[in-house]
Amino acid sequence: MDMDHLSKNKRSWNMSRIRSTNTKPEMIVRKVAHSLGFRYSLHRKDLPGKPDLVLKKHKTVIFVHGCFWHQHKNCKRANVPKSNFEYWEAKLNRNIERDKKNKRELKKLGWKIIIIWECETKNTEKLIKKISKIYYLMHSSSKSSKQPISLK
Ligand SMILES: [Zn+2]
Repeated sequence: MDMDHLSKNKRSWNMSRIRSTNTKPEMIVRKVAHSLGFRYSLHRKDLPGKPDLVLKKHKTVIFVHGCFWHQHKNCKRANVPKSNFEYWEAKLNRNIERDKKNKRELKKLGWKIIIIWECETKNTEKLIKKISKIYYLMHSSSKSSKQPISLK
């Protein structure tokens, strides 16, 4: 089922159903993506960074990033602990570098990349908007598909 066939009633039913659950960020993203009609595979080991969700049909991968471990910019959850600061800084910088490298490699392979931050999964409606944008971007003009996706 895709968005076009999802009636307004069905959609709001899905939304209320999603809102009532309280699970890990990745589970929330999966549920929302699924309810929007996306089909995906999980943690494909053959792709750089083992993306959390792989939407093959849309040539798009979704990463669900923990705000701390992946250092979400300007996010309260990303504060580096004051004790052992140098240890954490080095460790987290390695994560950031690895993320960058994975993104570069995925782009080279022609994948579009969506990053969903842990804190964004708290707002289901915002999340639905962000994920459903993928759908419309993929199916609208071809010029947008050449751009790296930045959904803010
Ligand atoms: Zn965050």
